[in-house]
Amino acid sequence: MTNSENTILTVGSLAFDTVETPAGKADQVLGGSCNYFSIAASFFTPVQIVGVVGQDFPQNHLETLNSRGIDISGVEISAGKTFHWSGKYNQNLNEAQTLATDLNVLENFNPKLSPEHQKAPYVFLANIDPDLQLKVLEQNECSKLVACDSMNFWIEQKKEQLLTTLKKVDVLCINETEAYLLSGESNLSSAADKIFSLGPKTIILKRGEYGAALFTPTCTFAIPAYLTSKIVDPTGCGDSFAGALMGYIAKENLDRNTLTENPELWSKALKHAILNGCVMASFTIEDFSLNRIIKLDKTEFLERKSQFEKMISI
Ligand code: AMP
Repeated sequence: MTNSENTILTVGSLAFDTVETPAGKADQVLGGSCNYFSIAASFFTPVQIVGVVGQDFPQNHLETLNSRGIDISGVEISAGKTFHWSGKYNQNLNEAQTLATDLNVLENFNPKLSPEHQKAPYVFLANIDPDLQLKVLEQNECSKLVACDSMNFWIEQKKEQLLTTLKKVDVLCINETEAYLLSGESNLSSAADKIFSLGPKTIILKRGEYGAALFTPTCTFAIPAYLTSKIVDPTGCGDSFAGALMGYIAKENLDRNTLTENPELWSKALKHAILNGCVMASFTIEDFSLNRIIKLDKTEFLERKSQFEKMISI
């Protein structure tokens, strides 16, 4: 498959998740940062995945991704078990309690990008080992923009490698609590200031039911979440938020030069990107696993988006 000027290459986890929420439990269901991200981003723009699964991973799911135009030629099927994450949410759905992280085939994964993947203009480093994020960055020309996600597991275990990655990243998109852990600060604004000094010039802080905040060198902005009453499982909300956000950035053909040459246009576009992210996440939370966003169609998405725009306008 050839790259378009809007193609996003993403590296992240393809997983089986075991999740418990106040609404119930789902055992060994499909998940992983890359899965949620790529499905959400595919609403906007072509996506290529770099990742690894075990021989236990269902072929029909890879076919489902493929049928949405997602390029899965970079997904390696390795001897062993697929990455498994187990987590629990209590009444506070904004924060998952990790019960188990079994890296399995992720442990020895060594991504090798095809010549096509080396030239993808947009790169999204979804939540995965920062060493793997770096390996992908070393092989891609990163011509337009690199964005990155992470989580407490990696901030605690591989902070140094994550800091090396961040020096090469344009946009960081992480949870509020992860931003506090990474920066050592305890309010949004100070955390953003600290993270600016680590590399990224645009910071998006995901805040669960409280929405998201945006920081660029010239703009600070916050948006609420789209409040749906059907709350089942927040797993993947952050990744699908990032998928819609990044999909919008790529579709609009924005790049790191937009930030330096036209900061106002950049900030305005980022506000729209975040709005799309909030709408996508509001669908993800309505069911376990990928069940809701895999059924979602564009009309439904656009209807909710326009409802949300009305909700937040004053
Ligand atoms: P979130 O969007 O933050 O809720 O991300 C949820 C997804 O992250 C789950 O589907 C997990 O499979 C995946 N995940 C959890 N822990 C890790 C980890 N340490 N590395 C990579 N992916 C993970």
